Amino acid sequence: MGPAGACWRGGRGPCGLRRWLSSCAVAPRVCVVGSGPAGFYTAQHILKHHGEARVDIYEKLPVPFGLVRFGVAPDHPEVKNVTNTFTQTARSERCAYYGNVTVGRDVTVAELQRCYHAVVLSYGAEDHRVLGIPGENLSGVYSAREFVGWYNGLPESQDLKPDLSCETALVLGHGNVALDIARILLSPLQLLRKTDITDGSLAALACSKVKRVWLVGRRGPLQVAFTIKELREMINLPGARAVLDPADFTGLENTIKGAPRPTKRLTELMIKTALEKPVEKAVEAQTAAPREWGLKFQRSPQEVLPSADGRRARGVRLALTRLQGSGDSAKAIPTGDTEELECGLVLSSIGYRSVPLEPAVPFDAQRGVIPNSSGRVEGVPGLYCSGWVKRGATGVIITTMNDSFDTAQSVLEDLQRGVLDVATSREGFGAVESILRSRGVRPVSFSDWEKIDAAEVARGRAAGKPREKIVDPQEMLQLISH
Ligand code: FAD
Ligand code: NAP
Repeated sequence: MGPAGACWRGGRGPCGLRRWLSSCAVAPRVCVVGSGPAGFYTAQHILKHHGEARVDIYEKLPVPFGLVRFGVAPDHPEVKNVTNTFTQTARSERCAYYGNVTVGRDVTVAELQRCYHAVVLSYGAEDHRVLGIPGENLSGVYSAREFVGWYNGLPESQDLKPDLSCETALVLGHGNVALDIARILLSPLQLLRKTDITDGSLAALACSKVKRVWLVGRRGPLQVAFTIKELREMINLPGARAVLDPADFTGLENTIKGAPRPTKRLTELMIKTALEKPVEKAVEAQTAAPREWGLKFQRSPQEVLPSADGRRARGVRLALTRLQGSGDSAKAIPTGDTEELECGLVLSSIGYRSVPLEPAVPFDAQRGVIPNSSGRVEGVPGLYCSGWVKRGATGVIITTMNDSFDTAQSVLEDLQRGVLDVATSREGFGAVESILRSRGVRPVSFSDWEKIDAAEVARGRAAGKPREKIVDPQEMLQLISH
């Protein structure tokens, strides 16, 4: 699918627009905040469809790629291949990368707007949704964001040191992140060893006592947010047995007859796993499996229960629910009954959340997004947004790509219509550099990142891993300072 075809929105055809844009006197300077998929895809589309535009990408960490590096599971290396495309974009003559620059702290959006014709905010989701229940802050309770960050080398999560000394873990939420976490907790070590999981988390997982993971959702099997490929991986996980309650699935076959194909296939897989008798060989393997996992439905977390000394989590009280309505819009209504599940580890995987960047930038705190129309930030001409901060913390990389192309198209259209004033030139990084220098900030270039990358790959090679991530930003900066 060609990017132009993916999101062209009428007006001049792509070629006419390209010709017109190339005839503009002053080369437009665009700045993108954030170097995850949204930032890179926005830059890629602008560069591809405007022969003169220059795009600078600012990133708060020294290293690029956002959740592709710090979110995508280490045992899904094929997903990370998108970084090859991002690297091509970053190496374009008209693109520059400046890592180690936190927008909102080291330089303000207003300052960036003075230095660029357009500013695109693509800074993702830097926080997690909270449950808002008693006990959520007890020791032994972690958000998915910090736990995923921990095993993926996110600098801010390196002190987490999750306590894995219990046998039973409870993951709250039925999304793909919940499945990622369950899989990492239960995967045989020899599988993880070959991935780019950090050495520190690998050592902790080697001592882990966790052998049972319950994934708890407030709605039913027809409302799960995970997808079939990820569920199949769990079902086929070596050394782990799936424990699904047949009662959750009886009668569902009829209900799904008219359901959309993805829901139908996913539900059929759950039904098969729960109800079909496995062949003899599989029975043997399952009986011998040292670990197990299961899905629990229609249970909404009500309280994390404290241990006798009041400090640690010892379980979760769940409110049983019934569904009101059907399909994806069904609501979970508490029945009044509750159930307690014992566990020593609680991972709250109910979604990530974007945060406001600065008071001057509009933000819808309710929805956790920057209010916008096709990526144009409401009430602030010249300011745009793309990715998770534009539409909420949902969607895979391809969804983020399409939405970023849509925002990039808005920028191109506004250049064409004269909404963005390109009559006067803007200095871009030249001006930002002086601001950063005056504040003692040393930006990291893309070729600096390539040195860090090479060092990580070299460290990993010795251990048979694709890379050993450097988890301390200071160490990254030292590495490129000589
Ligand atoms: P991010 O990827 O979060 O990028 C935002 C960037 O902005 C980050 O680099 C951040 O450091 C930077 N930033 C933040 N604040 C500032 C600031 N103030 N100044 C400068 N920079 C800043 N999708 C798939 O297709 N396949 C998968 O296997 C998959 N796995 C996932 C696993 C997890 C755990 C999660 C959470 C998501 C996964 N996704 C997956 C979804 C995918 O990661 C997202 O669709 C995508 O990353 C969203 O892109 P983004 O650029 O909006 O946000
Ligand atoms: P998600 O898909 O939105 O799932 C969140 C889950 O949390 C849902 O089951 C939701 O249930 C539940 N939830 C939300 N609020 C809750 C509450 N207050 N109490 C109880 N449960 C609550 O989010 P995610 O798992 O963080 O994933 C984010 C995006 O990244 C998704 O688009 C996902 O597909 C993508 N991703 C993809 C991959 C992959 O492709 N392999 C891997 C990881 C992530 P309700 O439905 O009832 O609200």
